[in-house]
Amino acid sequence: MLTDNHGRKINYLRLAVTDRCNLRCFYCMPEDGLNWLSRKQLMTYEEMLQSCSLLVKMGIEKIRITGGEPFVRKDIMKFLTALSELQGLKELTLTTNGVLTAPYVADLKRIGVSSVNLSLDTLDAGRFFSITKRDEFANVMATMDELLKHDIEVKINAVVMDGKNTQDIIPLVELTKDLPVSVRFIEEMPFNGDGHVYTGLKWDYVRILDEIKAAYTEIRKLDDTQYSTSYNYKIPGYKGSVGIIAAYSRTFCGSCNRIRITPEGELKTCLYDNGVMNIKDQLRLGINEDDLKQMLLNTFNTRPKDGWEAEHQRAGSLGVHESMATIGG
Ligand code: SAM
Ligand code: SF4
Repeated sequence: MLTDNHGRKINYLRLAVTDRCNLRCFYCMPEDGLNWLSRKQLMTYEEMLQSCSLLVKMGIEKIRITGGEPFVRKDIMKFLTALSELQGLKELTLTTNGVLTAPYVADLKRIGVSSVNLSLDTLDAGRFFSITKRDEFANVMATMDELLKHDIEVKINAVVMDGKNTQDIIPLVELTKDLPVSVRFIEEMPFNGDGHVYTGLKWDYVRILDEIKAAYTEIRKLDDTQYSTSYNYKIPGYKGSVGIIAAYSRTFCGSCNRIRITPEGELKTCLYDNGVMNIKDQLRLGINEDDLKQMLLNTFNTRPKDGWEAEHQRAGSLGVHESMATIGG
């Protein structure tokens, strides 16, 4: 079992396979995109597989594929299939914006993906366009239908943004009335990629919950599952559930079980750190497996206790400024 210097179990890897995306969600990246990574800067599928294989041997049990948008990377299904065959991996999941995903759903089911996080901030096609700058709402909804048809668990990620989609909170909760989906409202984080500095969060988890409770006085709190980052609720009689993720307030660091690898191969032991070592560079230098394992263990043994400490430790940096597409969420 892998543990860190604070006694927290580490068993969950989030792997971002690309920084590229077919949407331009304004909270994630500027409208004209990012300075995309070149092919050489990206980890190859072989390098990712090698890293995952080692980490699974060390104790990682769950891998989430994310990005950028995973389905814009060529041959992603071949890579997912190879990952799904790793001995010892208990769960393979992914986070997608759903634009290109529907045709892959049957294959995802076939390789054992049982749960998918689908990002959807609004149920209004016009607001979807104004948030993402792309007219793709219908394709995202088609992906949701396809996932449900294949009996894959759907968790909807909705970032709550002041002045943009707070009128969508209740309609999104209403989606759980007839559909067995979990709608999770996420606090907006400062990973917008254009360096604009944060001036406080108007919609934190407390305010989001108050908004929901005011509309549903009968709402019930569900028990928190181990390592859950969301506070979960259910409206009696509704098929699905509702969650709130305090991603900016960082209330869940005490049980954080996750590490991240960016598309460039940078290992992050906290979402808010600046990267603690580059796995791709080590692999390209020809490091042997034992030495790489030792380097990884060293990073787990010097993990910051929470996201505030990690952000504070960013040496010489102005703080968080990168795009979430270069991290994976
Ligand atoms: N493109 C895929 C998608 O959107 O689902 C996967 C990558 S995206 C970076 C992963 C998650 O991060 C999405 O659910 C997205 O809503 C969330 N995200 C991106 N920027 C964020 C921000 N500034 N604050 C909070 N969540 C953010
Ligand atoms: Fe793309 Fe996902 Fe970022 Fe939106 S949140 S721009 S879909 S990577």
